[in-house]
Amino acid sequence: MKFSEMKYERPDPEAAKQRAEEIKTAFMKAGSFEEAEAAFLSWDRFTFHIETMISLAYTRHSIDTTDEYFEQEVDYIDQVSPVFTEIQQSFTKLLVKTAFRPQLEKKYGKLLFLNAEIFLQAFSPEIIPETQQTNALETEYQKLIASAQISFDGKTLTLSQLAPYKQSENDEVRRAAWLCDAQFYRENGDRLDQIFDELVKLRTGKAKKLGYDNFVKLGYLQMNRNCYTPEDVAKFRESIVKYIVPVAEKLYREQAERTGLPYPLTFADAALHFRDGNPKPQGTPEDILAIGKKLYHELSEETAEFIDVMLDNELMDVLSKKGKASGGYCTEFADYKVPFIFANFNGTADDVEVITHEAGHAFAFYTARDIIPSDNKSPTLEACEIHSMTMEFFGWRESEAFFGKDAEKFRYHHLFGALTFLPYGAMVDHFQHIVYEKPEMSPQQRHTVWKELTATYMPWINLDGTPFYGEGKGWQRQLHIYENPFYYIDYCFAQTVALEFWVIMQQSHEEAWSRYRKLVNKAGTQTFTELVRTAGLPSPFEETALREVAESAMRFLQQRR
Ligand SMILES: [Zn+2]
Repeated sequence: MKFSEMKYERPDPEAAKQRAEEIKTAFMKAGSFEEAEAAFLSWDRFTFHIETMISLAYTRHSIDTTDEYFEQEVDYIDQVSPVFTEIQQSFTKLLVKTAFRPQLEKKYGKLLFLNAEIFLQAFSPEIIPETQQTNALETEYQKLIASAQISFDGKTLTLSQLAPYKQSENDEVRRAAWLCDAQFYRENGDRLDQIFDELVKLRTGKAKKLGYDNFVKLGYLQMNRNCYTPEDVAKFRESIVKYIVPVAEKLYREQAERTGLPYPLTFADAALHFRDGNPKPQGTPEDILAIGKKLYHELSEETAEFIDVMLDNELMDVLSKKGKASGGYCTEFADYKVPFIFANFNGTADDVEVITHEAGHAFAFYTARDIIPSDNKSPTLEACEIHSMTMEFFGWRESEAFFGKDAEKFRYHHLFGALTFLPYGAMVDHFQHIVYEKPEMSPQQRHTVWKELTATYMPWINLDGTPFYGEGKGWQRQLHIYENPFYYIDYCFAQTVALEFWVIMQQSHEEAWSRYRKLVNKAGTQTFTELVRTAGLPSPFEETALREVAESAMRFLQQRR
C-alpha cells in the first residue's frame, strides 16, 4: 500500500484500555500454552496497531510541521502516550509472571523476558505527569529548531538548508554561514537552556520517584541496556581518548596543511576537509535515488526487492522543504509491514550517507517484517545503528556513480568522518553522565563542562574561533541531548562495529556481506554483544577493537591524503 493511502485514526486510550482488559483476561485465564500463546499474539497485534497510528501521526507531522491537523494529533499523542505505556506495562507484568513463561521462552527466546523486566523497572504510572511534561518540552525544542528563518545568500533558509554553506570552500561564505547559524542559537540560547534545565529536573524527579539516586540508572533502563554497564561505557570512552583522539588530531593537522588554514582549527574551518571543497554528489536528488536503486539491485536479491517496495510505495520522503522537520530517520508502519525513510537532501555528501544509512535501518526492518512477536523484530538501538552505519560502507560500491570525480575524495571524507565522529560522540555521552550525576548544575556550569570536554576530546579545535560553539554551547544543537538521553554513545558502538566490517570489506566484499546478513537476520533476538559475536567480530568493549580499526583506517587514509 502507498504511504498516502495508509489510514490514520486517532488512537483512543479508553477503547485501548477496554481491548487490553479483554486480552489480559484471556491471557490470565489461559488453561493451556496454546491459549496463552494466542492471547500473547493478540496483544502483539493490538500494540503494534497503536504504534502504527502513532508512527503515522509523527511521520506526517514531521513532513509538514505547519499542518495543523497533525500538529494537534502529535500534541494529543504526547499527552496520551504515557497512558499507552501504562497499558503496555500492565500486560508486561502478567507476561513475566505467567506459568507458561518456560514454554514462551522456549518458542520466542529469553531475551524478550529480560527486556520485559527492564521495561518494568523503567516505568511506573506515577511518572506519567513528568513524562507528559518532558514530551511537551521535547516537541517545543523540535519546533524551535525547525522555526529558524535565516537570511543568507539572498534567501530565507532553515538550519538544514544552511548546512551546505557551512561546508563551502569559500572561507568567507563558510565562516559567515557558521556565524549566522551561531546567531540563531544565541538568540534562542536562554530558552534552549531553560528547556534543557527543565528536562534535567523532570528526568531526575522521575528517577527519584522510581527509587534511583539520579537519572543515569533510569536513563540506562530506558535505553534498554541489557548487556553492559555505565562502567563499561566509561572504559570505552577512555579507549576512544587513548586510541582515536591522537589519530584524529593527526588527521586534522594534515587537513590544516592541506587546506592552508591555521591550526588548531576553528569549528568553521574544521568543516572544510579539502581546499577545493568537500565531495559533492553528481546530479540531482532524483539521480541519487536512482543510483541508490542500482546499488541495492546489485548488492543482493533481498536488497533489490526491498528498494523496489520502498520506491513503489512512497516510502521515502527525502527532499528538503520549508516546514519539514530537520534531520533524518527511519520508522516503520508495522500494520503494513513496511519501513519509511525521512530525510532532508541538501546537495552535500550527507545526502548519500543518509540514503545509505536510513536504508540500512529500513532494510533491517524489512528483513524482520514477518517476525513475531514484534519485540523480536528489532534489537536495541546501538545494534540497529550497526545495520545503518555498515550499510553506509557497502554504499562505497557506487561511490563513482554517486560522486564522479569526487569518488576518492568521498571515501576519504566518509572514513575520516567515521573515525573523527567517535571522540565527538563519546563527548556527548560524557557530558550527559556529568549533567545527570549533578542535576543541580546551572546552565553556565553546563557550558563550562562542555568546553572542558571539548579540550579533551577535540584538541584540534580552537575554541576562541567561533561564537556560540566556542562558548561551550554547541551541545544545544544536538537534538539527542534534549530528546533521547544516553542514546548518542550508541552511534559510537555501532560505528566501531561498522569500521570492523569496513576492514573485512577491504579484503572480501562477499565475506563482509555474508556476516552482515547473519547479524541482520538475527533481528531483535540477540543482545548487542551477542549480535557482534554472531558476525564474528570483536566487541567494542575489548580494547583491541578500537586499536585495530584505528590502525587500518589510518593506513588507508595515509595512502590517500
Ligand atoms: Zn541511524
